Amino acid sequence: MTRPRILLTNDDGVNSAGLWAAYEAMSVFADVTVCAPAVQQSAAGRSISIFDALRMDEIIVNGHTAYAVGGRPVDALLLGLFALGPKPDLVVSGVNLGENLTSESITTSGTVGAAMEAANQGVPAVAFSLQMNNDGDKFTDPRTHAGDFSAVKKVVSSLVPLYLSEGMPEGADLVNVNIPAGDIKGYRVVKLAPRLFETSVEKRTDPRGKPYYWICGEQYFNPGEGYDADVLHAGYVTITPLTLDNTAHASCGRTEEMLRRAGIL
Ligand code: MN
Repeated sequence: MTRPRILLTNDDGVNSAGLWAAYEAMSVFADVTVCAPAVQQSAAGRSISIFDALRMDEIIVNGHTAYAVGGRPVDALLLGLFALGPKPDLVVSGVNLGENLTSESITTSGTVGAAMEAANQGVPAVAFSLQMNNDGDKFTDPRTHAGDFSAVKKVVSSLVPLYLSEGMPEGADLVNVNIPAGDIKGYRVVKLAPRLFETSVEKRTDPRGKPYYWICGEQYFNPGEGYDADVLHAGYVTITPLTLDNTAHASCGRTEEMLRRAGIL
């Protein structure tokens, strides 16, 4: 029996401990090709390099061959799909060091962005992210993250074979999975919360007297019970099926009505 083929990518960079935890879990039952950004690309979303040539280096990480792409997560995904040989049965993105929750964050996340592009190319995709209790851990070098990944590997080993054998449930194009930092109480299928951050911009002054800016944000929003953020914080693995369709279907009629009233339609 041929083993399933998985293309593994991420946005934290090809050396990330989270990516290699997923590799270890999945290489037991699948042939895994690692093709990921050469360096940290978090928050690159689904951006794509169409003005620049891309380089891809074959490197060895942890004794395994991997492909390091000098580009965005979606660049790595597309080179993995179109420049590295047979089409995979599944794309896995992650495991991201830091949770990816809410409608606000999933479109800025490079982890989810790469999974969205995989779905756009017709390949089922699962994005995995690990909650970080200390927010500062999300901004350290992902190579040196000294976390215990045994629970993470268990989650990846339980979910990935299921999506390999059954594909996406009807109506979903990809799946967003978040893993709690502490003990896992179980699994829950949840909706995305609307948002989580109180966005702000900090203005500072550099040593030459010129202003510079940091976009930042405190987590402020209590999404209420049953949303991904709340359920993850309660200790459950959250599973959210996503669709690429951004159309506000319920609003199409109202939009026509509005345009008719204005004499435009
Ligand atoms: Mn990341």
